[in-house]
Amino acid sequence: TRHIAIVGCGQLAQMMAQEGQPLGITFSFLAEEGENTSCVEGLGELIKLEEHESGEALYQALGRPEVITAEREQVDVALLRKLQQFCPVYPDPHIFEKAQHRLREKLALTESGLPVAPFVPALGADELRRALGTLGYPVFIKSCENGYDGKNQWRVKNQAQLEGAIEEAQSQACVVEAAVDFSCEVSLVGVRSVSGEVKTYPLTENLHRQGTLLVSKAPFHDSQLMRQAQGYLDKLMRDWDYVGALTLECFVTTEGLIVNEIAPRVHNSGHWTLVGAESSQFANHLRAILDMPLGDTQCSSPTAMINMLGVNKSPSQKNEGVWLYGKSLKEGRKMGHVILVDNCVHQLSRRSEAVIDELYR
Ligand code: ATP
Ligand code: MG
Ligand code: MG
Repeated sequence: TRHIAIVGCGQLAQMMAQEGQPLGITFSFLAEEGENTSCVEGLGELIKLEEHESGEALYQALGRPEVITAEREQVDVALLRKLQQFCPVYPDPHIFEKAQHRLREKLALTESGLPVAPFVPALGADELRRALGTLGYPVFIKSCENGYDGKNQWRVKNQAQLEGAIEEAQSQACVVEAAVDFSCEVSLVGVRSVSGEVKTYPLTENLHRQGTLLVSKAPFHDSQLMRQAQGYLDKLMRDWDYVGALTLECFVTTEGLIVNEIAPRVHNSGHWTLVGAESSQFANHLRAILDMPLGDTQCSSPTAMINMLGVNKSPSQKNEGVWLYGKSLKEGRKMGHVILVDNCVHQLSRRSEAVIDELYR
């Protein structure tokens, strides 16, 4: 059997393991101090970071994996580099270094020629106020570090809100970016294997609620935007010598796509592939990092994924699958998701609305 170690113990690690088992892959999981591991219990060996001093001891404890991957971008890059002495780490640590820091990420995207919203780096009250002078309202002020699910960022429409954000941001390094006037948000999940085989899923439309993804729908039919997104993803994958799943989050504007951010991993907006594609993003990420031929990424019928944010009950409405991650209930927390498939897009929309009503009423 082939053995993979995953850094992180959340639902993404859980679904990678669930999708990897039929491929004959075994798993071990690396938990940081205090990390909740309920998602991955029973899916493989659980290793606690603090119990192992050296990289070598950790590699041994992880069961001498063939390859190591991570389920989130907020990982200890130095730790990944230590582990890299013993086996490949995909994506490479240099990717995480970019992805976990908004300014480095924006600069890297710009360097590869991808269009991003006008932005200004800022640290402290004076620089934040000056950035507003350059960009004008409205803007998003985003902390360079520890931002996910819309946390650690502030939408600022006027001076009063700016002063509030300055207070909250304190001395964190930030990126101030112009608010993009978009018609909708889309994402593209692609995979690239060690040998360089690339496949992409269809473009997916995403709807957020308070900065957190609520609904994803695929495929988003716009061949021109699809080509544009695919071109950007290909460019990044080649520029970064990328291996694994890579997600591009974009705004759709009258001038085409503006890239919001990337995620160097399987992505919430790709969960629909568990039902809607022959090979899921999780299976294909594993195939990519093990250098196996990639599976089919086509979407045969319109598919929707609805996040269960702070709710833990399965909807009674007809659906094509409910995933419950096994986490303890907390407001706004991603507890699970529901997948719907329907040959009729209108019917799919109606059914999605009904599920959302039932979950959140
Ligand atoms: P994720 O969970 O996707 O990693 P995040 O915390 O990294 O979220 P972003 O993706 O940067 O945050 O922003 C969250 C959401 O806020 C976006 O999906 C979008 O709806 C909105 N948003 C962020 N930046 C902008 C912008 N410049 N213009 C308009 N809307 C924005
Ligand atoms: Mg993000
Ligand atoms: Mg995002």
